[in-house]
Amino acid sequence: MSGAVKMIGIRRHRLATDGEGVTTLACFWGCPLRCRYCLNPYCLDESFKGEMLTPQTLYERVRIDDLYFRAAGGGVTFGGGEPLLQIPFLREFRALCGKDWRLYAETSLNVPFSAVEAAADIFDGFIVDVKDTNPDIYRRYTGRDNAQMLKNLAWLLDAVGASNVLVRLPLIPNFNTEDDRSKSRTLLSDMGATRFDEFDYVIR
Ligand code: SF4
Repeated sequence: MSGAVKMIGIRRHRLATDGEGVTTLACFWGCPLRCRYCLNPYCLDESFKGEMLTPQTLYERVRIDDLYFRAAGGGVTFGGGEPLLQIPFLREFRALCGKDWRLYAETSLNVPFSAVEAAADIFDGFIVDVKDTNPDIYRRYTGRDNAQMLKNLAWLLDAVGASNVLVRLPLIPNFNTEDDRSKSRTLLSDMGATRFDEFDYVIR
């Protein structure tokens, strides 16, 4: 059984923003990357208290929207932070909610391959925040190498099918250009990706 893990927040009633139908977003604390414009800096802050939840407690909390999930073909999207660092928790949550809810992972995929392999059996869909396929740009922006992420993505596309993987390609001010993004898209299309979400980061 999984113990309690630190979560940074739960947001209900999201409509087609991070999964199909009505979804609840549940965010884990902790991430292996250090993105310069991190959208959830609490995930990287050791002193952030968050809330410790077990799979059972989270299930009881989000079950309030069971009817919405079933009627609209929605469910729970796990983000963070990096949800794929919490495989035992996720496996137990799936056992609790059964197959009627759709579960999605918002992930960087920059995790050990064993986590991706396990996640393929848990989730219905993946939203993969690739950022950029150029290793230098990726390292400058996240502080990490992207080789493992690309290997994981190639395997995932094959294992779960391209229709179940949405690839996010942001334009990141001061780090990449339209031309870089276009190169990433070409490389990822060659790997088999078919669904892309391209958007611009707005730096305030
Ligand atoms: S992957 Fe997401 S949570 Fe992790 S550092 Fe980057 S923006 Fe922040």
